[in-house]
Amino acid sequence: MEPQQHNGHAATKTRGKRYVYSFGGGKADGNAGLNWLLGGKGANLAEMAGLGLPVPPGMTITTEVCTYYYAHQRSYPLELEQQVRAGLKRIEKIIGRRFGDPENPLLLSVRSGARVSMPGMMDTVLNLGLNDETIQGVIKQSGNSRFAYDCYRRFVQMYGDVVLGLKPESKTEGDPFEKILEDKKAARGIELDTDFTADDLGELVAEFKALIQDKLHLTFPQDPQEQLWGAIGAVFGSWNNPRAVTYRKIESIPGEWGTAVTVQAMVFGNLGEDCATGVAFTRDFSTGAKELNGDFLINAQGEDVVAGTRTPQQITLAASRERAAREGRSEEERQASYPSLEERMPGCFAKLQEIAHTLERHYKDAQDIEFTIQGGHLWMLQTRAGKRTAAAAVKITVDMVHEGLIDERTAVLRVAPAQLDQFLHPLLDPNAPKERLARGLPASPGAVSGEVVFSADDAEAAAQAGRKVILVRVETSPEDIHGMHAAQGILTARGGATSHAALVSRGMGKCAVVGCEALEIDYERQQFSVRGSGVEIRAGEWITLEGSTGEVFRGQVPTRDPNPDTAEFKAFMSWADRFRRLRVRANADTPHDAKVARAFGAEGIGLCRTEHMFFEGDRIDAVREMILAEDTAGRIRALDKIVPMQKGDFVGIFRAMAGLPVTIRLLDPPLHEFLPHTEEEIADLALKLSVPAERLRAKRNALHEFNPMLGHRGCRLGITFPEIYEAQARAIMEAACELARAGVRVIPEIMVPLVGYKKELEMLRERIVRVCTEVANTGGVTVPYTVGTMIEVPRAAVVADAIAAAADFFSFGTNDLTQMTLGLSRDDAGKFLPDYLNQGIFPQDPFVSLDQSGVGLLIELAVRKGRAARSDLKIGICGEHGGDPASVQFCHQAGLDYVSCSPYRVPIARLAAAQAALRDTTPKARRVTRTSRVGTSLAPATA
Ligand code: PEP
Ligand code: MG
Repeated sequence: MEPQQHNGHAATKTRGKRYVYSFGGGKADGNAGLNWLLGGKGANLAEMAGLGLPVPPGMTITTEVCTYYYAHQRSYPLELEQQVRAGLKRIEKIIGRRFGDPENPLLLSVRSGARVSMPGMMDTVLNLGLNDETIQGVIKQSGNSRFAYDCYRRFVQMYGDVVLGLKPESKTEGDPFEKILEDKKAARGIELDTDFTADDLGELVAEFKALIQDKLHLTFPQDPQEQLWGAIGAVFGSWNNPRAVTYRKIESIPGEWGTAVTVQAMVFGNLGEDCATGVAFTRDFSTGAKELNGDFLINAQGEDVVAGTRTPQQITLAASRERAAREGRSEEERQASYPSLEERMPGCFAKLQEIAHTLERHYKDAQDIEFTIQGGHLWMLQTRAGKRTAAAAVKITVDMVHEGLIDERTAVLRVAPAQLDQFLHPLLDPNAPKERLARGLPASPGAVSGEVVFSADDAEAAAQAGRKVILVRVETSPEDIHGMHAAQGILTARGGATSHAALVSRGMGKCAVVGCEALEIDYERQQFSVRGSGVEIRAGEWITLEGSTGEVFRGQVPTRDPNPDTAEFKAFMSWADRFRRLRVRANADTPHDAKVARAFGAEGIGLCRTEHMFFEGDRIDAVREMILAEDTAGRIRALDKIVPMQKGDFVGIFRAMAGLPVTIRLLDPPLHEFLPHTEEEIADLALKLSVPAERLRAKRNALHEFNPMLGHRGCRLGITFPEIYEAQARAIMEAACELARAGVRVIPEIMVPLVGYKKELEMLRERIVRVCTEVANTGGVTVPYTVGTMIEVPRAAVVADAIAAAADFFSFGTNDLTQMTLGLSRDDAGKFLPDYLNQGIFPQDPFVSLDQSGVGLLIELAVRKGRAARSDLKIGICGEHGGDPASVQFCHQAGLDYVSCSPYRVPIARLAAAQAALRDTTPKARRVTRTSRVGTSLAPATA
């Protein structure tokens, strides 16, 4: 099979282009900087060869060929064949063997390699070039026919699977090659592959070939060139196998990138007892400790280490001894059954240590290395920056600064902000067995288990009885707060990333999975079923939620606690704070949340949603009384009961944030949200308030809205019922004055929601100022305060210059701004959002990561117009996007003063803000080097 020819047009376009990059013999055409073209594996092999490290010679076919292959009906550019032939010649020259030579054959590996590692997602073929003739050459050269047949049977098996596509025919059937292998073991009465004789392996080769003939009606190809092009095509083809496509979707890897193919001379770890193969990590990727570690197998090929058929041995003596201690084995047993590489092959171990050191100093990062030892000679097959836990990422980065390998800027840029989540919430034990029931949106991170309950009251009662529960609801509403508070975690069938359940959970730092559409919840029967699986879970059964992935598991999966209070984490965050320009505040509604936020480094509160205070304890009754009042006087009477209670909350919050600004938002939700809904609840309330149920029902009906998100809410309530906002302003200012008198520095910022017209803000501002002046006059103390507005109605962004004339500050409410700009319901979009994401219409969920090209333009416009009208206008963001790293980067570029997010995301926002500043190359970038301004304790306050 030769490469297929393309049409003449493409030939002209591609002529003269280099598609193949060679490496080996101390030289390389490429280097690590070309990883977009050569893939991570190819680029790093070239880099290592260039460094003079022992790398078997090879060549890398570029990712551009992959792109071409898919754009041209799976054919190749015309030049490719000639370039591959030339590359092969170079390999032959360096290694001193010829591809297909029956006397002295060169065998090849053909591997995939994308720009970023996609572990195990694409295909590989090893031992290529073997046939019935070349095997004789291998036997002669190696003097080891068992080895030769072992390679041949592996090759036929891999080629049959990967290139010819001989797979199990159904989900229940095992691998057909493995079945033959197992049958043979049984027939021979042996357990391990290593116990096969050369004759057994020769028979296996024949049986595998017969299987291919029988199932596929194909003769196993004997022509090495046909084998090579078959394998190259299979590796390019594997870029689009379902596994790889799914992995790319999860990891947001663009399909256009394509894979490179690396063709490399084989070295053999299975040529005898002085041969081995293994994987080494230059540091511990779980803890970050500076210790070379890893696994290896003697007399084996690479796939044996990962396949798990034999248990690998440890590279270092220390790790081997640790394992023996864990398994309760004596030193003699350990030495006999799994000695370390350090003991078995001390020369190779020393060389590996030296190379690990060289690689770390060269790449300035910890490496994940694959190696093979053939006849006592160490070969490097791969190196890459190893995947690590957040704890390891921070420790390695900080250690490398102390070792002088990198500077603090590099360190701050090296850890992905989202990864810090792992520091702040428990994680599922990765080794624990799990049965996944369903997957929803990852709304709030953490890993929790509990008994299923279906109502907030049940959650509260169970929690009071000391039980752990997961509150499962179709969706949540403000009435469920007490249950959400009592539960370990929240699971909803509906709702998106800014649904009530999501944002309240995030605010509480509570694990939540929302919009889990596969759940069919039956409150009546107290159970939920998982659509399409037949699984039913009843109240009282245990489930586990993983809030960072959105997964729901059956039963209680063990978790591990995070530890944020390490010296490394503190040092790392203090560097991040030095580089950032954006301030970071928190969205917090209670004194407890405010304390947590401050401990995480929040520099103020960017949004205190006062409606949450309306639901607490008995207050809801006073609120309902206010709603039911027939006239202003009646409303004022009810409000007079609410003011002292709200004042108490504000005192607590101001005290927790002493010296820092606190933005308090006046009432936002439509009033019907505070009324009971079911007939039973209405009857209860009627009794409690001594009003006829009929009147309650009539009020509920009168307040009903078809589209409440666009209805009588936000400042529109303040316009219709000015006494509500006046009462809230009074509570805020009385609290501020009380603390000021006690010597506490208070910085209140009063915020009006949902403004679209200057006139709205002007009118409300005037009333707020009047009340605040009255309070100050009565209290005999002046507290400086500001009055500003949320920008969450698109019109407000468009006329921001006019609105700025009445505002001291703007805060972008990007939850509503996204909802209204995209015409996309915050609460209902979950139903079809997956279609929009899967089909690439939305690059991301716009309620999670800011729609920069749409909503972002409105923000930029409002910043420009607002500042033109008022140069000292303070501008922030308090929508959920304030804790999303990409959105934080946008806010930095747009020139905002601060971002505000849930307390548990504050460290993430601090790091994202620092990275945004470090990446900012515009001359206007004001980089302030700060002395430590934030609390150094990172553990949440417990009060
Ligand atoms: C917003 O709309 O972005 C906002 C912060 O307000 P809420 O989520 O309370 O509507
Ligand atoms: Mg809003």
